[in-house]
Amino acid sequence: MIIAANWKMNLNKQQAETHLRLTAQHPVHAIKNHQTILFLPACYLPLAEDIFGGGHDVMWGAQDCHHHDSGAFTGNISAEMILGFGGGWALAGHSERRQYHFEEDGLIAQKIIQGLKSGLKMMLCVGESEQERNDGKHFDIVGAQVKKICDAVKKAECNLFDIAIAYEPVWAIGTGKVATIAQIDEMHRMIQNSVAPHVEGEAGVPVLYGGSVNLDNAAEIFALPSVNGALVGGASLDAEKFAQLCAIAVQK
Ligand code: PEP
Repeated sequence: MIIAANWKMNLNKQQAETHLRLTAQHPVHAIKNHQTILFLPACYLPLAEDIFGGGHDVMWGAQDCHHHDSGAFTGNISAEMILGFGGGWALAGHSERRQYHFEEDGLIAQKIIQGLKSGLKMMLCVGESEQERNDGKHFDIVGAQVKKICDAVKKAECNLFDIAIAYEPVWAIGTGKVATIAQIDEMHRMIQNSVAPHVEGEAGVPVLYGGSVNLDNAAEIFALPSVNGALVGGASLDAEKFAQLCAIAVQK
C-alpha cells in the first residue's frame, strides 16, 4: 500500500519541521511493503532532504512540476529541481490545479512525460465533478482522463510502471463527503482494466483513492482489493494521525 500526504499550501516552517521530524521517527513508515510519500510545498523540499536524506524509507516530492526542463516560467519548479533536493515524486493533475490553474489533460500528460524522462515517479490525479457524476458521466470522464494520459505517455516511450493513479472524485476532496465503497471499487476496477493493456508483463499501476480519507473511514476503504493506497489531504497534516492512517494500511 502507498499512503501519500498532500499538504497543499498548509503548515508554516515550524509546523512543517515538527511534522517531518515526527514522521521520520515513527516506525510505521519503515514497515516493509508499505510506502509513505509526502507531497510537500516546494519550499520544504530542502527540509525533507535534511531530515530524510541518506536512506530513509519515507519518500517526498512536490505538488506540481513544470512540463519544460527549464526556462522563463516565473513561479514554477522543474523536475530537476525536485530531484536536486532528493524528491522522488510529483503530483500531476490534482483537481485544484485543474480548477485554479486551468490545467487540462494535454498539459498534464506533458508534465508527466517531463517528470518521467527526468527520473521522477509521477502520481496522476483523476476524478469527476459532482455534476458529472449526477449526469451519469463519471466512467466516461475518468476513463477519458486515464486513456488520454496513458496514450501520451506510451507514445513518448515512457514507462507507465513509474506512475501511480489517484482516483479523487472532485466532490469528495476536502468536503467530508466520501465515495461509497461500491463507487470506489467500480471506478478502481475500471481504471485498472484500462491501464492493464499498457503495462503487460509489469506489476501494474497502483490505484489510490483520495477524497476525505480519515481515521474513521480508512479501514473499510483500504480493505478493498482494488485499492492500492490513498492520497490524503486534510488528515495528513497531523503527523500522529497520519501515522495512524499508515498503521491501518499496513494491516492489509
Ligand atoms: C487531496 O487533496 O488530494 C485530498 C484528497 O484532500 P482531502 O483528503 O482533504 O479530501
